Amino acid sequence: MQQFLGVDIGGTHTRLIVMDAQQQFSGYRKVKTAEWAQQPQPLQGLTDLIGAALPALGETRVMLGLPGILSRDRARVLSLPFIPALDDQPVAAQLAQALGVEVRMDKDVNHLMWWDLTRLPQLPRVAAGVYLGTGMGNSLWLDGAFYHGAHGAAGELGHIPWPGLETQCRCGKQGCVESVTAGHWLAAWAAEHAPGTAIGALFVEQGAHPDVQAFITRLAQAIATEMNILDPEHLVLGGGVLAMPGFPQATLVAQIRAHLRAPQPASGLAITFSDVTDETGCRGACLAAARDPLFSGSRRQA
Ligand SMILES: [Zn+2]
Repeated sequence: MQQFLGVDIGGTHTRLIVMDAQQQFSGYRKVKTAEWAQQPQPLQGLTDLIGAALPALGETRVMLGLPGILSRDRARVLSLPFIPALDDQPVAAQLAQALGVEVRMDKDVNHLMWWDLTRLPQLPRVAAGVYLGTGMGNSLWLDGAFYHGAHGAAGELGHIPWPGLETQCRCGKQGCVESVTAGHWLAAWAAEHAPGTAIGALFVEQGAHPDVQAFITRLAQAIATEMNILDPEHLVLGGGVLAMPGFPQATLVAQIRAHLRAPQPASGLAITFSDVTDETGCRGACLAAARDPLFSGSRRQA
């Protein structure tokens, strides 16, 4: 019996879920990432976590989603800012050897995007996803496959340079748009300019503030730039920031559309918002595992 274990590793939480061959989900678990990532041996901590979630019977394929840059063959972690102990390690192969099952991995946003794409009535040929959480996640679906670039670092929209900006980005560079256009900027802005506003009420209470409106404008300009380069059929917008109460979705869409080149992609681009749920990332990882060509199909028993 073929089963899939999807593991969504985020900066705050790690989420796991099992999917059977009929695409039925079960066994959802959510633990704090720090519980395994801050152990002296993080990889052993992750091995133990996954091992405990593996179904006892049948063949299970494991798919990890990671918020960082992987090698083009997705075998090696190149840069995972919040768990540097995993940098430059063949994490999937090490887990596979320790657990005796096949393990693959991809950028976490590609699993969110795959879940969202499979909710559409028809799979687009070219699509892009922008998922705004603490950082700016970006997924590229080109000609029916996720695009990883020449070295695995494609889709880093958050790290394009922004005119006149000198702020330090978490990636180490200066002036990246993500440093002023993602959740961590909003949280810092609120702490300084609206200390009485709960972060969840930021757009409800401070949405009219020129700084918050400028945030939406930067986001629209960055996204529109990518749309004019890629000319996709579909843009999925998601992530925790866009799901906050009062987030001006219509304004964002209008500002993106104002910058689209006519006649295309202006008239052909569909824009939808993702249904954010806790389970979306690990469910998407299971669905990705079921179609991933990197799995060899070899038969090892869990
Ligand atoms: Zn950067």
